[in-house]
Amino acid sequence: MLQPRFGGNALRCVANKKGLTGLNTFEVRWASTSAVPRGKTETIQIPSQSLKQHPLAAMPTGMLLRSLLIATVSSNKFLLIPSLHLLSFFSKPDRSYLFNIDRNPVLKALLKRTLYNQFCAGETEKETRACVKQLKDLGFKGVILTYAKEMVFDHKSKSPNHHTSDKFVEEGAKAVANDTDIEAWRVGTLKTVDLISEGDILALKTTGGGPAVAESFSKGGLPPQQMLDALDEIAVKCKERGIQIIVDAESQHWQKGIGRTTLELMRKFNTDGKAVIYNTYQAYLKITPSVLAQHLAEAEKDGFTLGLKLVRGAYILSDDRTLICDTKEDTDNQYNGIAQGALRQQIGDFGASGPNARPFPSVNLFLASHNRDSVLSANKLHRQRLEAGLPTVPVAFGQLHGMSDEVSFSLLAEKGENEMPPEVFKCSTWGSMGECVGYLLRRAVENRDAVLRTKDEFAALRAETRRRVFGA
Ligand SMILES: Cc1cc2nc3c(=O)[nH]c(=O)nc-3n(C[C@H](O)[C@H](O)[C@H](O)COP(=O)(O)OP(=O)(O)OC[C@H]3O[C@@H](n4cnc5c(N)ncnc54)[C@H](O)[C@@H]3O)c2cc1C
Repeated sequence: MLQPRFGGNALRCVANKKGLTGLNTFEVRWASTSAVPRGKTETIQIPSQSLKQHPLAAMPTGMLLRSLLIATVSSNKFLLIPSLHLLSFFSKPDRSYLFNIDRNPVLKALLKRTLYNQFCAGETEKETRACVKQLKDLGFKGVILTYAKEMVFDHKSKSPNHHTSDKFVEEGAKAVANDTDIEAWRVGTLKTVDLISEGDILALKTTGGGPAVAESFSKGGLPPQQMLDALDEIAVKCKERGIQIIVDAESQHWQKGIGRTTLELMRKFNTDGKAVIYNTYQAYLKITPSVLAQHLAEAEKDGFTLGLKLVRGAYILSDDRTLICDTKEDTDNQYNGIAQGALRQQIGDFGASGPNARPFPSVNLFLASHNRDSVLSANKLHRQRLEAGLPTVPVAFGQLHGMSDEVSFSLLAEKGENEMPPEVFKCSTWGSMGECVGYLLRRAVENRDAVLRTKDEFAALRAETRRRVFGA
C-alpha cells in the first residue's frame, strides 16, 4: 500500500480506499495540529504517483470506453466525415418526424447514449445533477455549466440557426414579461444556477435570449431592457451564492454586442478585487488584441477586475474567414501571447515600461483550451512566478466535458508535494437534444480539425484501456 507522508503529524493511516476515481483516499487519524484536534479522523484524497504516470487512471471504466468509441470515430476520417454529415443534417430545426432528434425515439436513444452523454450533462435537472456530481468526484475544482439554448449565425447563408424550445416558455409566460424567448432563457438559466454550487461557474450563451436580443447584438448594441434585467438578476443571485459567471463568445456577427454587454456587467459586479463575471476573448480573431486593450483600459480607468477568459474560437466553420487569423500558427501565437502576457502582467502598454506605459489593472485569467502546450506552459509560468515572488494574476483552467481528459488530469497532477493542484474545471452543457445539437456539431468539427490532438487522445485512451485489460 502506498503510504503518503503527512509532515509527521499523522498518527497513523487508518484506511486506504482506492475509489472508482483512481484517487487514493486516505483516512488519517491526526496526532495533533493547530487546525485538527488530536485523534480526529479525516478523509483526504491524494493522487498517487501512478496517476502522474497514467493520468487517465482516474476515469471510470464506462466513461473510458465511451470516450474510446468517440475517439475511434473522430480519429478516422472514413467514419468521421459521414457522421458529421449526418449530425449536420439532424441539426436543422425543421426536420420531419423521422429525422427529428427530439421526436424520433430510436434516433434519440442512439444519439443520447453516444455523442450526447459524452459531451452533455443531461436533458433533465436530475440527469444534470448526477453528471455534475460525477465530474466533481473525479477531482476537478468545479464545473462550468451552461444551458444550451443559443443561436448560431451562418455567415454564408446570412441566417441564424435557431432551435426554439417550449421547455420554459410556459413557465416563463406566467411572469410579467413581453418577450417569451427572453423569459424562457431567464428561467432556464436560473434553473441552471440551482444545479451548481459555490465555487462552480455558470456559463451564459446570451443569444439564447432569442431574436430580439440577437438583433441588438448584431447592431453592436446592448440587448433589450428585459434581457439586461434578467442578466442583472442572474448576476446578483450568482454573486450571493459564490458562483462566477462566464459570458461565452459566440458568432462574430453578434460578438460586438455581447462584448459590450459583458463589459457593463464586469464594471458593475467585479468591484471586490475579483472577477464575478468573465468575458470571453477569441484568440483566432485578428481584432482581439485591440478589443482586449480597450477592455484593459476600461478596467484600469474604472478600477474593476477584468475577467479574462481566453479561447481560440469555435466558429471557424460559420464565421467570416477574413476576420480570423490566416493560419493556425497565428492563432496559437496570439493565444499564447495573451495568456503569457497576462501571467507576466504585461500586455501591450499595460504593465510595460516606456513613455506610453500604463499600470496593469486587476485581471483574473481563465484559460479554456485543450491544447496541451498552451495550458501546461501557462501553468508552469504561473508556478515559476509565484515561487520567484514575481507579480502574476490568478489563473484557472477549463476543458470541455468529454474532451481532452488526458490534458485535464495531467494538469491536476502538476503539483509538488504539499501543494494544491491547479484549479481545473470541466465545462458541460445541459438541455434537450435539439437544443444541444448545434453544440455537439461544433465539438465534432473541432475533433475533425484537431487531427493530431484527436490521434493523441485516441492513443492515450487506447493505452489506458489496454493497461486495465492486461493489468500492465
Ligand atoms: C472550457 C471551454 C470553453 C469554451 N468556450 C468557448 C466560447 O465561449 N466561445 C468560443 O468561440 N469557443 C469556446 N471554446 C472552444 C474553443 O474556442 C476552441 O474551439 C477549442 O477549445 C479548440 O481550441 P484549443 O485551444 O483547445 O486548441 P487547438 O485544438 O490547438 O486549436 C484548435 C483551434 O485553433 C483555431 N484554428 C484551427 N485551424 C485554424 C486555421 N487554419 N487558422 C486559424 N485558426 C485556426 C480554431 O480556433 C480551432 O478551434 C471553449 C473551449 C473550452 C475548453
